Amino acid sequence: MRIGVPAETMAGETRVAATPETVKKLKALGHQVCIESGAGVAASVPDAAYAAAGGEIADAAGAWGADLVLKVRCPSEAEAPRLRAGSTLVGMLNPFDAEGLQRLATAGVTAYALEAAPRTTRAQSMDVLSSQANIAGYKAVMIAADRYQRFFPMLMTAAGTVKAARVVILGVGVAGLQAIATAKRLGAVIEASDVRPSVKEQVESLGAKFIDVPYETAEEKEAAEGVGGYARPMPQSWLDRQKAEVAKRVAQADVVITTALIPGRPAPVLVTEDMVRSMKAGSVVVDLAAPQGGNCPLTEPGRTVVKHGVTLVGETNLPALVAADASSLYARNVLDFLKLIINKEGALHMDLQDDIVAACLVAHEGAVKRA
Ligand code: NAD
Repeated sequence: MRIGVPAETMAGETRVAATPETVKKLKALGHQVCIESGAGVAASVPDAAYAAAGGEIADAAGAWGADLVLKVRCPSEAEAPRLRAGSTLVGMLNPFDAEGLQRLATAGVTAYALEAAPRTTRAQSMDVLSSQANIAGYKAVMIAADRYQRFFPMLMTAAGTVKAARVVILGVGVAGLQAIATAKRLGAVIEASDVRPSVKEQVESLGAKFIDVPYETAEEKEAAEGVGGYARPMPQSWLDRQKAEVAKRVAQADVVITTALIPGRPAPVLVTEDMVRSMKAGSVVVDLAAPQGGNCPLTEPGRTVVKHGVTLVGETNLPALVAADASSLYARNVLDFLKLIINKEGALHMDLQDDIVAACLVAHEGAVKRA
């Protein structure tokens, strides 16, 4: 089978859907892999590295016209017509973007959105949300440390003692946990909040303090358990109490990293303008929810701004700032998923009894599909 890897064209997208490691493995399985010239350059993978792994360097038409196309982002309006009707597309296609999915259905492709995979043990090796959120959590701390004009660790020097930075992490999913671990390695003092009670133990095991907001009603407790590991919108009563607790911590914080998301909905507002106003001059807020509207209303997606003396970072694609490793991990996720849709004879097949395949399928035979 011919597998194509087009270059990503979205602004700021530096990742690539295959690496020499995965190209080599696909080649060993008997496939021909066509990589658009320059597709890996922004992720530090030159054409020569793909060629050495057995890939063929092609033009855009060669990559887009393959039987199976591997992408990072959902093809744009300009790109979708380049897909061949009847071919298969695998990528982070954004299952909540109805317009994008319709575009794929219109193009007549069979499309799999990897973000839609269930959060189960079997799906772990192809969990793109985890592999990329982990990177985002790490990079958020790196950016915060870069923007913050003081040290993270406590230092005792001949010129005096420097206090450790106080870091508050709001939302402790995959990104938040990695942010805690990274900030801890740098010596910060960390507090963290999440709606899900199961997180407390994880936060504490990383050496951070959990901001406890006890549940007072059965409705609050039930909402907090979420669905499939994901958070659900919390009742206003709980959110009001959380806000009061968070406000106290934020006022004392040097760095706030927010990662709170609810799938398919705008991000919850956790850091209000009043809270930002209460922060010390020179503090930093990194808002990982910026692409979903932000956990802070002052965040400007895609920009870093200073408001009320606080630096607000609204990067919308943190994994793309760690392009080489983000691509390596993503390409491995893709390769593992391909094992579910390519049979022993090396041909594409669709087993809708497989819960991962069924969940990821978003377009087939001209129609948008959602499991
Ligand atoms: P996410 O990116 O969807 O959300 C980030 C975090 O924000 C979540 O922890 C969520 O609870 C939290 N949040 C939402 N609203 C909030 C609010 N108002 N205040 C504070 N926090 C709020 O989450 P994710 O990183 O994708 O992880 C989701 C779940 O999936 C987690 O339970 C994670 O452990 C689980 N998971 C399971 C597997 C697996 O079993 N294979 C793999 C990865 C993740």
